[in-house]
Amino acid sequence: MSDPALRPLGLFGGTFDPVHFGHLRLAEEAREALGLAGIRWLPAGQPPHRERPRIDPAHRLAMVRLAVAGNGHFSVDPAEVEAAGPSYTVTTLARLRRELGPAQPLVLLMGADAFAGLAGWHRWQEIFSLAHLAVLHRPGYALRPEALPDPLAREFLQRQGDVPEDLARAPAGCILPLPMTQLDISATHVRVLLARGASPRYLLPDAVLDYIRRHQLYGPPAHP
Ligand code: ATP
Repeated sequence: MSDPALRPLGLFGGTFDPVHFGHLRLAEEAREALGLAGIRWLPAGQPPHRERPRIDPAHRLAMVRLAVAGNGHFSVDPAEVEAAGPSYTVTTLARLRRELGPAQPLVLLMGADAFAGLAGWHRWQEIFSLAHLAVLHRPGYALRPEALPDPLAREFLQRQGDVPEDLARAPAGCILPLPMTQLDISATHVRVLLARGASPRYLLPDAVLDYIRRHQLYGPPAHP
């Protein structure tokens, strides 16, 4: 790549309720495999396409900050959490596109489960004009056109990239499937363990678990 300033930049949105090692490993492996200049983590404020998270978005943001601390390639963008209304990925991407200019390749990172639901997102087809997508394999979720809803399968077939270099050739528009170490970890499972009073240790960073304990998040319901 001739212009290092235009190395693709990774963007990683999620509810992160709470952030866990599946997220961190996804970001680390995608950064290396795609030669990304860095990754901006984008914790969602009030995600419109799923159930509203139970805990204060400020806690989710604080946990993401703790999780990425010490990794010089990762940064956290608090804009969606700090916004008053619901967050839409397409609006966030449009803002970042304005900020970073038309030539900067942007790569939205997501797991195969999130990708399978993409056609339900607000103005989802516009996302392809704003960023590339890198779709990471996740245990239990097939990444095959037959497993996707029709309009999304069509986009996938038309836009599918073969190699990471495809993402540096244009600012947006490509969909690249990407293998990663398969970690069957979900925030749902972490929440279930905590609600049961069981230990989620080693599924998420100690600093995040300490934060959860200190603020008594996701805990078993207090007994009268
Ligand atoms: P929940 O269980 O609450 O639905 P989650 O663990 O899926 O949460 P999210 O914050 O919804 O976490 O996910 C953010 C992004 O990370 C999504 O694109 C999702 O596909 C991806 N992701 C989460 N966990 C993994 C994992 N273990 N392997 C690969 N991708 C993952």
